[in-house]
Amino acid sequence: MLSLTNRDQTNIQLDMRRQRTINSAVSAVGIGIHTGKKVRITLNPAPANSGIVFIRSDLSDRPQVRATTSNVSNTMLATSLSEDGVTVSCVEHLMSALWSLGIDNLHIEVTSEEVPIMDGSAAPFVYLIKSSGIREQKAAKQFVRIKKPIELTSDDACVALLPYDGFKASYTFVCDHHVYNRYPKHASLDFSETSFVKEVSRARSFGLIRDLDQAQSVNKCLGSSLENAVGIGDFNILNADGLRYEDEFVKHKLLDAIGDLYLAGNTILGEFVGYKSGHCMNNELARTLLARPDTWERVSFDDEAREVVKPFLQPIAA
Ligand SMILES: [Zn+2]
Repeated sequence: MLSLTNRDQTNIQLDMRRQRTINSAVSAVGIGIHTGKKVRITLNPAPANSGIVFIRSDLSDRPQVRATTSNVSNTMLATSLSEDGVTVSCVEHLMSALWSLGIDNLHIEVTSEEVPIMDGSAAPFVYLIKSSGIREQKAAKQFVRIKKPIELTSDDACVALLPYDGFKASYTFVCDHHVYNRYPKHASLDFSETSFVKEVSRARSFGLIRDLDQAQSVNKCLGSSLENAVGIGDFNILNADGLRYEDEFVKHKLLDAIGDLYLAGNTILGEFVGYKSGHCMNNELARTLLARPDTWERVSFDDEAREVVKPFLQPIAA
């Protein structure tokens, strides 16, 4: 499913003070989870301060869709972006991979309205980016540092961003089903101590098979299979190899939240807490953050890294 146009590059020695893009174009082919259609994705280097921009290369005039919180147009089952009537769906796993490797600027061509689902996790995108190699740019990397807590609730779900020197994320998954009940439902990770690539990026999408049957009856999730998701039957996990992590479900929810929050445009310095939340609330949280400039400040570490942030900056650069 994965075809690379560039060779692996090792020993990336970079820090997180400067913006990043990739070295050269790299492509992969996969299918869209909802349409089941084949799609090619090509990541291209982009200039400093240009951000993450999708390009629908299958449409005339190659329209652009910027990866921003304000462009989020749908959060049912996945996060979709739309700009001037043009849509790119299922962006969150790719966005979390870009966050984890500190990629600020990228032009992403897709030949369909969906980013390919690959194996249902962020790992194939991490691999793709590393295959091209990461290029540090001259411009200072911008961070959004949370200064005051922001909390949103909806029914019994809740999301929050809190001040923290670094980036920490916690999630509590609530679903009373006896397969889910066998596995951890809470995870709390501090990314100054934990590698996203190693501990989170491989966590796949998951769902109950009975929900999938229902979705496919209305032409949704047509590309979904045990190749790109963890399938849950009435009594068991249906994938022959089981789970990749004991807490794969809750880690996937963290992966989604990190990808959704990265649409705010910059790496957040703070703590994310999610309880029973999903794409919709993640997006609401990012929108609320951007609408309340009293709760955050944009910072960079161009000249000297602040001592407090150093532990965060180094490990995720690895
Ligand atoms: Zn997901």
